[in-house]
Amino acid sequence: MGAGSSSSLAGGTRRKGVRGWMAEAGDALVSVFFPAGCRICDRLLTGASRVPICEECLASFVAIPRDICEVCGRPLAAFAGNEGVTSLCPACGDKTYAFERARSLAVYEGALVQAILLLKFEQIEPLGAWFAGRLAELVGAEGGKLAADVVVPVPLHRQRERERGYNQAALLSKPLAKRLGLPHKAVLLMRTRARPDKRILTLEERWKSVRGAFATRPGSQVDNLRVLLVDDVLTTGATLDACARALRAAGARSVIGLTVARAVRNPLPSSDTW
Ligand SMILES: [Zn+2]
Ligand SMILES: [Zn+2]
Repeated sequence: MGAGSSSSLAGGTRRKGVRGWMAEAGDALVSVFFPAGCRICDRLLTGASRVPICEECLASFVAIPRDICEVCGRPLAAFAGNEGVTSLCPACGDKTYAFERARSLAVYEGALVQAILLLKFEQIEPLGAWFAGRLAELVGAEGGKLAADVVVPVPLHRQRERERGYNQAALLSKPLAKRLGLPHKAVLLMRTRARPDKRILTLEERWKSVRGAFATRPGSQVDNLRVLLVDDVLTTGATLDACARALRAAGARSVIGLTVARAVRNPLPSSDTW
């Protein structure tokens, strides 16, 4: 903030008379007596939580089924022929991904889609912290399988982050790192190529648009580190894969992907798409 803007802020405070203070006190009273509604269903929020989503909506998030691919965490029920036969989905059978493992909190549908939009476009930090709490529980429940040395958010392109003012993945990774007692490295990875403006329709285009789009920042130390890579949604796995390739190329020992949501109905990349 420049000197000009800070002095005008001070001036504004000086000018605020009794009427201004009354208005502020009034706003505080309104928020006590007329609490806001849930940002998803509009039900009155009654708890003391700063998360602007009601308990019912939070409880409606659909957990990932138990029977998942051991590597990428994708529910295996979608592959009827493989049930009970293998714990790998077809993509992981083909060794598609550069990350060692990926897990998600819940299925990308219903209220969770709206919750992710709130996080992404309205920077609701208490919601990010709430998700981080659930992700930390997931890491704990998986025992050593998700063990890491450092937490890293999937980066936005610099220009996109400047426009938005924040990176929604960091709203998750920062409180998560704190809960796990691990260092948070927000600038270790960078997105070197912006996502194309046009809506990406095909799986091939999705994979092509992120392949080689990430790099580690020059001078950053990832040698032999186990990286916990955090994002809001896993769709095809292409983004986590591209980040994992950049981290592995820079010497990371392993990369674990962790997302709040997972699109489970999305088809898998076939081995001939890349
Ligand atoms: Zn609600
Ligand atoms: Zn898999």
